[in-house]
Amino acid sequence: MRSHCPLCNTFLKAGQILPAGRFRCPVCHGEIRASGGYGQCIFWGTLSVLICFFWILGYRDEHLIYAVLIALVPVDVFVLRTLKYVIPPDLEPHLPDLSLHLKGGPRS
Ligand SMILES: [Zn+2]
Repeated sequence: MRSHCPLCNTFLKAGQILPAGRFRCPVCHGEIRASGGYGQCIFWGTLSVLICFFWILGYRDEHLIYAVLIALVPVDVFVLRTLKYVIPPDLEPHLPDLSLHLKGGPRS
């Protein structure tokens, strides 16, 4: 699998890609990011593996929850930083959220 800049179609090496958050293409300097599903898949996959891992070790009930919560962030960051070399993410342009999050209807 290869990751290309969606703006200029330049091939990006895994070391040039941030798997979470936006970053600039080193060639066209456009803001791009990994697809949103990539980080979510890694998060849920990491969570599932951690639950199984601690379950096999004999953790149950609240001890299982505490162990998974403590291990989740460092393991998720490690997996995010290393998995991109094995399975690079699809890249997409970063589009800023321009919604104003207004509540209520128009004034009359
Ligand atoms: Zn580019």
